[in-house]
Amino acid sequence: MPYHARVGDRRVNNSPNKADSKLAAQPCLLSSNEKQTSSSKPSGLWIVALPLIAIVFAIAAVQTAPVIHQAPPPLQTFARPRSAPPSLPSKTTRQRAKATEPIIRVNVTPGGVQSLKLDVRGRYRLISIESQEELASETGLSQIVVTSTAKGLKLGSHQYATKQIEIQPDQLPSIRVDGHLYRGRMRLFRRADGLISAVNVLPIEEYLASVVDSEMPTKFPEAARQAQAIVARTYALYQVRQADPKSVFDLLSSQRSQKYLGVEYIDASGRRLAGESESSRRVVKETRGVVCTLRNELFCTYYSAVCGGRTIHGSEVFKDATDALKSVPCEWCRESPHYRWTTELSRDAFQQRATNSNNNEKKATSIRSVRQTSPPGSGVISRFELDAGKDRPSVSGIELRDRLPPGTLHSPHFQIKLEKDRVVFDGRGHGHGVGFCQWGAKGQAEAGRTSAEIIRHYFTGIELTELGY
Ligand SMILES: [Zn+2]
Repeated sequence: MPYHARVGDRRVNNSPNKADSKLAAQPCLLSSNEKQTSSSKPSGLWIVALPLIAIVFAIAAVQTAPVIHQAPPPLQTFARPRSAPPSLPSKTTRQRAKATEPIIRVNVTPGGVQSLKLDVRGRYRLISIESQEELASETGLSQIVVTSTAKGLKLGSHQYATKQIEIQPDQLPSIRVDGHLYRGRMRLFRRADGLISAVNVLPIEEYLASVVDSEMPTKFPEAARQAQAIVARTYALYQVRQADPKSVFDLLSSQRSQKYLGVEYIDASGRRLAGESESSRRVVKETRGVVCTLRNELFCTYYSAVCGGRTIHGSEVFKDATDALKSVPCEWCRESPHYRWTTELSRDAFQQRATNSNNNEKKATSIRSVRQTSPPGSGVISRFELDAGKDRPSVSGIELRDRLPPGTLHSPHFQIKLEKDRVVFDGRGHGHGVGFCQWGAKGQAEAGRTSAEIIRHYFTGIELTELGY
């Protein structure tokens, strides 16, 4: 398959915002007939607008090799209180009362940036979020650089004595940040440390149209992608309810939350790639407002690329895992190249890193043998006792995965073979293995299962609730 699953993880440390290895879809090069529509607008306008847009992009685009997904930034802690999410109105099926579509705030600059490039097509207004004062009302911004100043923010040559600015465009989508085109509005924040955060504010269904394609290949069957939409919607709304009231965003655009590329993006080598598609917009529309609930509450629908034959008990990895996240068998992902995998490392490198939680320590400890205290495939995280002479440290698969060089271990579920000069790892799956298995969803869909059946396989005892907006 022409795409790769990625390594960073939403794992351990009990934060729901730790990214995990999930599928990363192959970016699609935008063709001239690819329609990028606002979900609230018919595509007819775009038939007229596309040639103009194509001209603009043809000037900017340089056809060279694509850079697909960048590695996620270093993990960063964003405090999330453990307050209980509010109750949903009723169990299962359709809600009669008309609700309002939730708005979501996505930090598209995880970790903060020193500066960013900003483009805005058409008319827009700049509003100070702090004072609600209109700072400017202009037409078009092209490749301006946003930086911070001691008092606030600088957009191109204009300085504003406010640390929080919202860009409100007339037409959608029209805001591009560092090459990614986004629907909705954009908020710029000068953080206390002087870095800048850009937060995209938009209706959740429009956000999901990009998440589905960012997280799962367009070639996967419709039912699998519908299930992905429902799982991603639930994950996002759960994060909205968990967010610190003082936080200026709900989720990150990286795999630490859910991958969100926007409507389209220009990669580092100048290629213009699709971040959503007709297919993703359709599966989001087909599942509009549908979420997973357990005892009438949202829960965190963790998911990963490949479980490798059995999912992991959620409580093994995440503190906030509910009892819906039980370990269940899943042979549906066996077609994945990561269903089983083998990697290796030099024995010296293994010995140095495995025994040192701090990889900067140079001293290697000789490891005579490794005893596995919980085998892979048992629904729990593998643990290993390392015989290092007088020390016999016990480490988990998660800890080892953090300590060894990135890419050595695709999941925390593996066996270790010590050989003379090298160490061989026989592993299963890609990612933490908790909850929804993306490759498993593909296998189940190909076997004729519906999105609801797929989801219920991975989340025990749950219901599908339509929020009715
Ligand atoms: Zn699986």
